[in-house]
Amino acid sequence: MSASRAHGHVWLVGAGPGAPGLITVAGLEVLRNAEVVLYDRLAPPELLREAPAGATLIDAGKAAGNHAMTQDEINATLVEHARAGKRVVRLKGGDPYVFGRGGEEALALAEAGLTCTEIPGVTSAIAGLALAHIPITHRNVASSFVVVTGHEDPTKPETAVDWTRHARGGDTLVVLMGVGRLGAIAGALIEAGRDPSTPAALVHAAATPRQRVVTARLDEIARVALEAGIGAPSLLVVGEVVGLRPALEAAASPLAGKRVLITRTRAQASTLASAVQSEGGHPVVLPALELERRVDEPALHAAAEALRARAYRWVVFTSANGVDAGLEALRGEGLDARAFAGARILAIGDATARALLARGLVADLVPAEAVGEGVVEALVGAGMEGIEGARVLVLRAEGGRAVLLEGLRAAGATVDEVTLYVAAAPAEAPPEALALLRARQIDAVAFTSSSTVRNLLTVLGEDIEARAGLAAARVVSIGPATSETTRAAGLEVAREAEVHTVPGLVTALREALSATRQTAPREALSDARQTAPCEALGAVEEGPQR
Ligand code: SAH
Repeated sequence: MSASRAHGHVWLVGAGPGAPGLITVAGLEVLRNAEVVLYDRLAPPELLREAPAGATLIDAGKAAGNHAMTQDEINATLVEHARAGKRVVRLKGGDPYVFGRGGEEALALAEAGLTCTEIPGVTSAIAGLALAHIPITHRNVASSFVVVTGHEDPTKPETAVDWTRHARGGDTLVVLMGVGRLGAIAGALIEAGRDPSTPAALVHAAATPRQRVVTARLDEIARVALEAGIGAPSLLVVGEVVGLRPALEAAASPLAGKRVLITRTRAQASTLASAVQSEGGHPVVLPALELERRVDEPALHAAAEALRARAYRWVVFTSANGVDAGLEALRGEGLDARAFAGARILAIGDATARALLARGLVADLVPAEAVGEGVVEALVGAGMEGIEGARVLVLRAEGGRAVLLEGLRAAGATVDEVTLYVAAAPAEAPPEALALLRARQIDAVAFTSSSTVRNLLTVLGEDIEARAGLAAARVVSIGPATSETTRAAGLEVAREAEVHTVPGLVTALREALSATRQTAPREALSDARQTAPCEALGAVEEGPQR
């Protein structure tokens, strides 16, 4: 950038064990300001979307050709971009200094006279266990742990890993990169004195939707892993703590490890997506709604005049989109939030109230029931300041339910409606989400409005496989109107939210998915979606994907 900035800077950032949410706040911040990102295969791909649009993204696992970059090439690339004055983020799975060769990269930068900041990450060596409900230490069970590589640098002599020492070195033993040599490792540990009946586990692809866990005695873990087809990346865990897993797993959220299809506009999906993520679920966003601005100009113009004349007693917003679109449209009329000074504001629900708040407007009334009937009821209940003889402005989407306007008019109000946009189905669904549906790897679907149901079906069109995947998932709806539309579309509603909000929807998801766990007949679901009880060692438990 500026001539005075002779050199750039490198941040050596730990991306965490596999879920995008497990990067640190500091790591995310530098990633969002990066000019160059050099990333590893183990860094969650979703994180790359956090880099600025213009950033150069370099896949260190797959350089120009189809070969992995050598360590020297990686070091040279870091030096080159830092020398060119760039803000470079080196994004590595887990923690950069835990078997990540981060030290070599930092040394190369130091040798080149460049500067570097380490931002630690959550290492899979510890977090991978927690994600499988195995505490790495536990009072009276394990008071130490050892982390060791199962894949020593091949240029070192075979004796470089002292298995005799590791076998007794810690109560819990965690082996990274050992999945290809499980038999040899287990054998060496037993030979060195570890009890063959010690509980052991393999945790594959922790924190990702592909996570799988198998458990067995130490002397059987290699065979069990082979039979289950467990490959890299996996952690081998050996120690009595593995025995705590079934009890801890019983307390896990039914959302953990599940894929939940979210069908809103991309911008709106984020609250629900974070709520799903916060319980260990994996949101799959399939935007089934695209908002197309289509303002009823004459109605808008008339409403603007009436606002100027302070003619409205109430202004009603029925969605967060309506808030944004409404204020934007009014700006086109030369009005801003001050136009509502003489009026009271009703927001249909919490999300709408929050959207208003973001624009500095506090809703005067949020009905208990976030449906059209609730609005009428709340306004009638508001007494003098309520509805009788009032002029009311409703700002909303085309095709909204008639019950709102009819109810208000029946209660004695004069109602002006300004429609601002249409919610339409996007031209096509994102291929990843479609592929997951077709493969029946979506565990649950959350519908937040009737239009999300209709539009999802429009997007899926005649795709029979995808529709079958939808029918196989547990469908959860935000409220009665959405449930009705869902059923009319031939889908079964597994649960309807009692409270018509995102937290209410998450509660419904939990109930719907725990019902799957306990009562759904095996054959009704694809095998890999079953969560087998892990009562005994030797159990093979699979995540939501094979
Ligand atoms: N720096 C990384 C480790 C890199 S070595 C960290 O701190 O996590 C690569 C090995 O890490 C893999 O072979 C595997 O043993 C382990 N590993 C990394 N991510 C993993 C994950 N999500 N699940 C299971 N094992 C993982």
